[in-house]
Amino acid sequence: MAMTPEIVVVGSANLDLVVDVSRTPLAGETVLGGDLRRIPGGKGANQAVAAARLGRSVALVGRVGDDEGGEMLRAALDADGVDTTRLTTTIDVPNGVALIAVGANGENAIVVSPGANSRLSATDLEEARDLIRHASCVLLQLEVPVAAVAAALEMAEGTVILNPAPAPSDGLPDELLRRVDVLVPNQTELATLARYDGAVDPEIAAELARNLPAERVVVTLGADGALVVGNDVVHVPAPVVRPVDTTAAGDSFCGALADALVGGQSLVEATEWAVRVGAATTLRSGAQPSLPTPAEVDRLLSGESP
Ligand code: ADP
Repeated sequence: MAMTPEIVVVGSANLDLVVDVSRTPLAGETVLGGDLRRIPGGKGANQAVAAARLGRSVALVGRVGDDEGGEMLRAALDADGVDTTRLTTTIDVPNGVALIAVGANGENAIVVSPGANSRLSATDLEEARDLIRHASCVLLQLEVPVAAVAAALEMAEGTVILNPAPAPSDGLPDELLRRVDVLVPNQTELATLARYDGAVDPEIAAELARNLPAERVVVTLGADGALVVGNDVVHVPAPVVRPVDTTAAGDSFCGALADALVGGQSLVEATEWAVRVGAATTLRSGAQPSLPTPAEVDRLLSGESP
């Protein structure tokens, strides 16, 4: 591990507790499901592992719980070579957990308990200042307090990518968005940030993105790929795939974008790489288990089993 990681992620780590059900329960209803699966997840940890599997040196600044779930998440990050020296174990606080019911038709119902993630503080960020300042790229999401995200934005000297997920219903302050080099919302998050309540097609997405104060915006469009909105608008189509599970596709997209930008590619080139990595991630199930290496991206997209 290099002394100074190329990419520093400030964000969440969650334990995903996943149960397959024939259909997700209505209010007041109980349904029986399959065996419980415990899968490492959380947007911060997923994006850190995504970039690490693509070959970058990565550190995660965050908090895990003082419980067995926290130990499991730390071990998963260590196994992928992610620097966890600034991942703090929070005494007497449970780990972040996502309770996920997945229906037979692919729809899901999710409850997130942020737990330790909600304790990430400005002091934690202060202790990570050198790491954040020296990173070529700082990768942020919104599953940790906005104050921590704002502190990271103020410290970063490299390229800052913000994946505004989940998007707060009252939007984000303009002065925060102005500090972001590349904002990466999906269509729903873009609509929320732009306070737009209609359907977002690519044309409207370009217009909404242009009106946000971030310097450049990459809007992810699921099977339609992504839209790069800077001085020009460039549509980057995704490879055609038959998805098995789209969990963490957006996270691997962000990790791949950071990977390519650190490698000196332009934003359009980086997006061309990110749509390939995102599409490959949909071809295996789970969050972190589905994140590919570069060789697996090629194999998965050429239809060979990895
Ligand atoms: P999120 O999962 O955060 O809602 P998207 O659904 O926009 O984000 O997906 C992120 C990226 O993952 C897309 O830009 C694309 O590269 C890839 N992706 C997701 N779904 C598909 C799909 N059905 N076919 C091909 N690529 C996909």
